[in-house]
Amino acid sequence: MTKSPIAARLAELREQLPAGVQLVAVSKFQPIEAIRQAYAAGQRLFAESRAQELAEKHAALPKDIQWHFIGTMQTNKVKVYAPFVSMIQSVGSEKSLQVIQKEALKNGRTIDVLLEVHIAAERSKSGFFPAEAEEYIASGRWRELPNVRVRGLMGMATFTDDTMQVSREFSALRALFERLKSSHPDFDTLSMGMTDDWPAAVAARSTMVRIGSFIFGDRS
Ligand SMILES: *Cc1c(COP(=O)(O)O)cnc(C)c1O
Repeated sequence: MTKSPIAARLAELREQLPAGVQLVAVSKFQPIEAIRQAYAAGQRLFAESRAQELAEKHAALPKDIQWHFIGTMQTNKVKVYAPFVSMIQSVGSEKSLQVIQKEALKNGRTIDVLLEVHIAAERSKSGFFPAEAEEYIASGRWRELPNVRVRGLMGMATFTDDTMQVSREFSALRALFERLKSSHPDFDTLSMGMTDDWPAAVAARSTMVRIGSFIFGDRS
């Protein structure tokens, strides 16, 4: 049997990613059939960026898939995926953490999260500023949320051809992660790297890459 293009791209990525770097297949805007092909090729970790789409795909697909949410968080939509989501990577405020706590408790679950940190030069990208994330972690207030488990940080580099700038941004996030990890050794996840910049992210010791268009092709 010849491999589907999706299976072939997943195999190519797995070959190139160092051991210990988790591959999140970003399936936003992709049809169920494309996700099934990735699943058939052994992929179990997927990410979506819209609440409703995530809920629909979760309902339609095998239940051993782990779903991450990576989109802009709307606090009134958390309840849509709180019953099943395995990680929310795009947590950009303390208010969002409080909402996740409430919804996780309602569902009798603990939800893993990453704090999204704003490292790019663009204004549009959301998240904590690095100093805010550091202050928030130092405050210990996140420990008062028993149903939320902070696992680490997520970031997106500037969309630019300037590879030096992208590398600098990833290195800055890695350095922040190291500082936080020195007082919180249970932080184990640094999510950075997408289709166009994952080699630079991995060079800066990302532990998780989020790759969509390379695996699935352009989003319709
Ligand atoms: C869409 C998206 C990705 C994947 O982007 P590709 O360039 O298609 O690999 C990764 N992370 C986030 C937060 C995204 O929104």
